[in-house]
Amino acid sequence: MNSVPSTFQNLNTTDRRNGCPECDFQGYIKTGPNTVRLCRCREQGRIEKLFECSRISPAFRMKNFDNFETENRPATVQAMARAARNYADNFAELKTKVNNWLVLLGEPGSGKTHLSLAVGNQLINEFISVLYFQHVEGISELMTILKKDEESIGEKLSEMKRADFLIWDDLFKPWGESKQPKSFEIRIAFEVLNFRYLNLMPTAINSEHLPDELLMIDRAIGSRILERSKGHLATVSGIENNYRLL
Ligand SMILES: [Zn+2]
Repeated sequence: MNSVPSTFQNLNTTDRRNGCPECDFQGYIKTGPNTVRLCRCREQGRIEKLFECSRISPAFRMKNFDNFETENRPATVQAMARAARNYADNFAELKTKVNNWLVLLGEPGSGKTHLSLAVGNQLINEFISVLYFQHVEGISELMTILKKDEESIGEKLSEMKRADFLIWDDLFKPWGESKQPKSFEIRIAFEVLNFRYLNLMPTAINSEHLPDELLMIDRAIGSRILERSKGHLATVSGIENNYRLL
Protein backbone atom coordinates (compact mmCIF):
# COMPACT_ATOMS: atom_id res chain seq x y z
CA MET A 1 0.00 0.00 0.00
CA ASN A 2 1.27 3.45 -0.84
CA SER A 3 1.90 5.76 2.08
CA VAL A 4 -0.14 8.93 2.24
CA PRO A 5 1.87 12.09 1.52
CA SER A 6 1.83 14.40 4.53
CA THR A 7 0.29 17.30 2.61
CA PHE A 8 -2.58 15.00 1.76
CA GLN A 9 -3.38 14.56 5.43
CA ASN A 10 -3.92 18.28 5.81
CA LEU A 11 -6.62 18.39 3.20
CA ASN A 12 -10.25 18.32 4.13
CA THR A 13 -12.55 15.53 2.99
CA THR A 14 -13.78 17.34 -0.12
CA ASP A 15 -10.23 17.80 -1.33
CA ARG A 16 -9.38 14.18 -0.61
CA ARG A 17 -12.35 13.00 -2.56
CA ASN A 18 -11.94 15.31 -5.50
CA GLY A 19 -8.23 15.83 -5.46
CA CYS A 20 -6.83 19.31 -5.77
CA PRO A 21 -6.41 20.16 -9.43
CA GLU A 22 -4.40 23.25 -8.60
CA CYS A 23 -1.50 21.83 -6.61
CA ASP A 24 -1.70 18.07 -7.15
CA PHE A 25 -1.65 17.55 -3.35
CA GLN A 26 1.54 19.53 -2.89
CA GLY A 27 -0.25 22.18 -0.84
CA TYR A 28 1.62 24.99 -2.55
CA ILE A 29 1.93 26.45 -6.02
CA LYS A 30 5.12 27.69 -7.64
CA THR A 31 4.88 31.38 -8.46
CA GLY A 32 8.46 31.81 -9.73
CA PRO A 33 11.81 30.02 -9.83
CA ASN A 34 12.28 30.35 -6.05
CA THR A 35 8.89 31.38 -4.79
CA VAL A 36 5.77 29.49 -3.82
CA ARG A 37 2.41 30.41 -2.40
CA LEU A 38 0.01 28.34 -0.31
CA CYS A 39 -2.65 26.65 -2.35
CA ARG A 40 -6.30 27.31 -1.66
CA CYS A 41 -6.70 23.74 -0.42
CA ARG A 42 -4.19 24.40 2.37
CA GLU A 43 -5.92 27.63 3.31
CA GLN A 44 -9.13 25.63 3.44
CA GLY A 45 -7.42 23.24 5.86
CA ARG A 46 -6.42 26.16 8.10
CA ILE A 47 -9.97 27.50 8.06
CA GLU A 48 -11.30 24.03 8.89
CA LYS A 49 -8.97 23.84 11.92
CA LEU A 50 -10.09 27.28 13.09
CA PHE A 51 -13.71 26.14 12.85
CA GLU A 52 -12.97 23.02 14.88
CA CYS A 53 -11.31 25.06 17.63
CA SER A 54 -14.06 27.69 17.59
CA ARG A 55 -16.76 25.36 18.98
CA ILE A 56 -19.13 26.72 16.38
CA SER A 57 -21.40 23.80 15.47
CA PRO A 58 -21.86 22.80 11.80
CA ALA A 59 -25.39 24.28 11.84
CA PHE A 60 -24.06 27.54 13.22
CA ARG A 61 -21.33 27.70 10.57
CA MET A 62 -24.06 28.32 8.01
CA LYS A 63 -25.11 31.60 9.64
CA ASN A 64 -24.04 34.57 7.59
CA PHE A 65 -25.25 38.05 6.74
CA ASP A 66 -26.88 36.96 3.49
CA ASN A 67 -29.16 34.42 5.15
CA PHE A 68 -30.21 36.80 7.93
CA GLU A 69 -33.75 37.80 7.02
CA THR A 70 -34.25 41.56 7.38
CA GLU A 71 -37.26 42.00 5.11
CA ASN A 72 -40.43 42.96 7.02
CA ARG A 73 -38.49 42.99 10.27
CA PRO A 74 -38.67 45.99 12.63
CA ALA A 75 -36.25 48.87 12.10
CA THR A 76 -34.38 48.05 15.32
CA VAL A 77 -33.60 44.54 14.05
CA GLN A 78 -32.40 45.98 10.74
CA ALA A 79 -30.22 48.45 12.65
CA MET A 80 -28.77 45.58 14.69
CA ALA A 81 -27.94 43.70 11.48
CA ARG A 82 -26.22 46.78 10.07
CA ALA A 83 -24.20 47.23 13.27
CA ALA A 84 -22.99 43.62 13.14
CA ARG A 85 -22.12 43.75 9.46
CA ASN A 86 -20.33 47.03 9.86
CA TYR A 87 -18.35 45.56 12.75
CA ALA A 88 -17.31 42.49 10.74
CA ASP A 89 -16.38 44.50 7.65
CA ASN A 90 -14.25 46.93 9.63
CA PHE A 91 -12.72 44.42 12.01
CA ALA A 92 -9.13 44.84 10.79
CA GLU A 93 -9.24 48.49 11.76
CA LEU A 94 -11.50 48.08 14.80
CA LYS A 95 -9.47 45.42 16.56
CA THR A 96 -6.77 47.92 17.46
CA LYS A 97 -9.26 50.48 18.80
CA VAL A 98 -10.23 50.87 22.45
CA ASN A 99 -13.95 50.43 21.95
CA ASN A 100 -13.93 47.25 19.93
CA TRP A 101 -16.74 45.18 21.43
CA LEU A 102 -19.93 44.33 19.58
CA VAL A 103 -22.83 44.13 22.01
CA LEU A 104 -26.34 43.03 20.98
CA LEU A 105 -28.97 43.23 23.70
CA GLY A 106 -32.64 42.54 24.12
CA GLU A 107 -35.50 40.43 22.93
CA PRO A 108 -34.88 36.69 22.46
CA GLY A 109 -35.47 35.61 18.88
CA SER A 110 -34.39 38.95 17.44
CA GLY A 111 -31.38 37.37 15.73
CA LYS A 112 -28.53 38.23 18.11
CA THR A 113 -26.99 34.76 17.96
CA HIS A 114 -27.29 34.58 14.17
CA LEU A 115 -25.63 37.96 13.72
CA SER A 116 -22.74 37.38 16.11
CA LEU A 117 -22.08 34.02 14.43
CA ALA A 118 -22.16 35.74 11.04
CA VAL A 119 -19.39 37.99 12.36
CA GLY A 120 -17.45 35.02 13.78
CA ASN A 121 -17.78 32.95 10.60
CA GLN A 122 -16.62 35.85 8.47
CA LEU A 123 -13.58 36.39 10.72
CA ILE A 124 -12.61 32.70 10.64
CA ASN A 125 -12.57 32.91 6.86
CA GLU A 126 -10.07 35.73 7.33
CA PHE A 127 -7.92 33.37 9.48
CA ILE A 128 -8.83 34.92 12.83
CA SER A 129 -9.23 32.57 15.81
CA VAL A 130 -12.73 32.71 17.22
CA LEU A 131 -14.22 31.04 20.29
CA TYR A 132 -17.96 30.64 20.73
CA PHE A 133 -19.19 30.37 24.33
CA GLN A 134 -22.87 29.75 24.96
CA HIS A 135 -23.53 30.96 28.49
CA VAL A 136 -25.70 28.18 29.96
CA GLU A 137 -23.87 25.33 28.24
CA GLY A 138 -20.46 26.84 28.91
CA ILE A 139 -21.08 27.66 32.56
CA SER A 140 -22.42 24.16 33.29
CA GLU A 141 -19.35 22.70 31.62
CA LEU A 142 -17.09 24.90 33.74
CA MET A 143 -18.97 23.87 36.89
CA THR A 144 -18.45 20.20 36.02
CA ILE A 145 -14.74 20.82 35.49
CA LEU A 146 -14.58 22.65 38.79
CA LYS A 147 -16.03 19.66 40.64
CA LYS A 148 -13.66 17.17 39.01
CA ASP A 149 -10.42 19.05 38.74
CA GLU A 150 -10.22 22.58 39.97
CA GLU A 151 -6.88 23.28 38.34
CA SER A 152 -7.86 22.58 34.76
CA ILE A 153 -10.45 25.34 34.87
CA GLY A 154 -7.59 27.81 34.43
CA GLU A 155 -6.83 26.28 31.04
CA LYS A 156 -10.43 26.72 29.89
CA LEU A 157 -10.54 30.31 31.08
CA SER A 158 -7.24 31.03 29.42
CA GLU A 159 -8.71 29.89 26.09
CA MET A 160 -11.57 32.33 26.59
CA LYS A 161 -9.24 35.12 27.56
CA ARG A 162 -6.86 34.66 24.66
CA ALA A 163 -9.06 33.93 21.62
CA ASP A 164 -8.59 36.66 19.01
CA PHE A 165 -12.35 37.06 19.05
CA LEU A 166 -14.68 35.72 21.73
CA ILE A 167 -18.43 35.41 21.24
CA TRP A 168 -20.21 35.22 24.60
CA ASP A 169 -23.76 34.28 23.72
CA ASP A 170 -26.70 34.77 26.12
CA LEU A 171 -24.66 36.33 28.92
CA PHE A 172 -26.39 35.81 32.29
CA LYS A 173 -29.30 33.94 30.78
CA PRO A 174 -31.34 32.65 33.75
CA TRP A 175 -31.13 28.89 34.21
CA GLY A 176 -31.61 26.36 36.97
CA GLU A 177 -33.80 27.21 39.93
CA SER A 178 -32.62 30.72 40.55
CA LYS A 179 -33.50 33.59 38.20
CA GLN A 180 -30.45 35.50 39.44
CA PRO A 181 -26.96 34.67 38.14
CA LYS A 182 -24.99 32.63 40.66
CA SER A 183 -21.84 34.07 42.19
CA PHE A 184 -19.81 31.50 40.19
CA GLU A 185 -21.19 32.88 36.91
CA ILE A 186 -20.39 36.42 37.91
CA ARG A 187 -16.89 35.47 39.00
CA ILE A 188 -16.13 33.67 35.72
CA ALA A 189 -17.64 36.47 33.61
CA PHE A 190 -15.65 39.10 35.46
CA GLU A 191 -12.37 37.20 35.21
CA VAL A 192 -12.66 36.64 31.45
CA LEU A 193 -14.27 39.92 30.45
CA ASN A 194 -12.04 42.03 32.65
CA PHE A 195 -8.97 40.41 31.08
CA ARG A 196 -10.30 41.17 27.61
CA TYR A 197 -11.30 44.69 28.72
CA LEU A 198 -7.82 45.45 30.04
CA ASN A 199 -6.09 43.96 27.00
CA LEU A 200 -8.37 45.67 24.46
CA MET A 201 -9.42 42.37 22.93
CA PRO A 202 -12.34 42.35 20.51
CA THR A 203 -15.34 40.58 21.98
CA ALA A 204 -18.97 40.03 21.04
CA ILE A 205 -21.58 39.80 23.77
CA ASN A 206 -25.24 38.94 23.38
CA SER A 207 -27.71 39.12 26.20
CA GLU A 208 -31.43 39.26 26.80
CA HIS A 209 -30.68 41.77 29.54
CA LEU A 210 -30.90 45.45 28.63
CA PRO A 211 -28.10 47.84 29.70
CA ASP A 212 -29.77 48.77 33.02
CA GLU A 213 -30.26 45.12 33.92
CA LEU A 214 -26.63 44.27 33.17
CA LEU A 215 -25.58 47.08 35.48
CA MET A 216 -27.95 45.79 38.16
CA ILE A 217 -26.59 42.24 37.91
CA ASP A 218 -23.02 43.43 38.31
CA ARG A 219 -21.95 47.02 38.03
CA ALA A 220 -18.29 46.25 37.26
CA ILE A 221 -19.09 43.85 34.43
CA GLY A 222 -21.98 45.93 33.08
CA SER A 223 -20.02 49.16 32.97
CA ARG A 224 -17.07 47.53 31.20
CA ILE A 225 -19.38 46.07 28.57
CA LEU A 226 -21.11 49.39 27.95
CA GLU A 227 -17.84 51.28 27.80
CA ARG A 228 -16.14 48.98 25.28
CA SER A 229 -19.20 48.77 23.02
CA LYS A 230 -19.55 52.51 22.40
CA GLY A 231 -20.48 52.81 18.73
CA HIS A 232 -21.25 49.07 18.42
CA LEU A 233 -24.13 48.55 20.79
CA ALA A 234 -27.53 47.58 19.46
CA THR A 235 -30.57 47.12 21.64
CA VAL A 236 -33.82 45.52 20.57
CA SER A 237 -36.80 45.40 22.90
CA GLY A 238 -40.45 44.53 22.42
CA ILE A 239 -42.08 41.24 21.53
CA GLU A 240 -42.72 42.32 17.90
CA ASN A 241 -38.99 41.79 17.35
CA ASN A 242 -39.13 38.07 18.14
CA TYR A 243 -39.25 36.20 14.82
CA ARG A 244 -40.09 32.93 16.58
CA LEU A 245 -43.43 34.38 17.63
CA LEU A 246 -44.38 35.83 14.25
ZN1 LIG B 1 -4.20 22.48 -3.57
